[in-house]
Amino acid sequence: MRYIVADLLMRPTGASRFVDLAEPFELSDASATLVAPVSGRLRFVRDHAGVLVQGHVSTQVEMECARCLAPTTVAVDFELVEHFRPTIQLPEGPPILTDPDEEDEPATEIDAHHVLDLSAVIEQNMLLNIPLHPLCRTDCRGLCPICGHDQNEGRCGCEAPTDPRWDTLRAMLASPNGAGETNR
Ligand SMILES: [Zn+2]
Ligand SMILES: [Zn+2]
Repeated sequence: MRYIVADLLMRPTGASRFVDLAEPFELSDASATLVAPVSGRLRFVRDHAGVLVQGHVSTQVEMECARCLAPTTVAVDFELVEHFRPTIQLPEGPPILTDPDEEDEPATEIDAHHVLDLSAVIEQNMLLNIPLHPLCRTDCRGLCPICGHDQNEGRCGCEAPTDPRWDTLRAMLASPNGAGETNR
């Protein structure tokens, strides 16, 4: 996802162009695999300190359902807003002022060949927006904790473990004089 932005850096502040993303991508995190290209329309804007990149990015990843472990496709989308600063000044271009508040992050540097590389920031944003507990469907029943059977495929017959905190109440309700009645 490398874009030459020399043209933009030569233009005055406020100049912009659109970039349409439609790229296959691979995450370094092996717990999710992209199953759709990274797509979106980004706006590159020349500002006083470099290039501002803004736009909506979306894709789809395949992960394991957090309850039943079945492969699950999850939509991932986010608003990308990143500022890139040039590492060298173009001789004929308008001056590039440095922003004192800006962090020195290699991921957001435009290299000496005026190449702006989106891969690192796309990956960072993607990892932040991937769900921690993806579900194959909202009412996934998960695996039986006793035998591991996929409960979406029907019952396995295991007795669900009961919560011991209710034992006293359950015994009271089961007893002949129980059900909370008071004997006068
Ligand atoms: Zn599931
Ligand atoms: Zn079971």
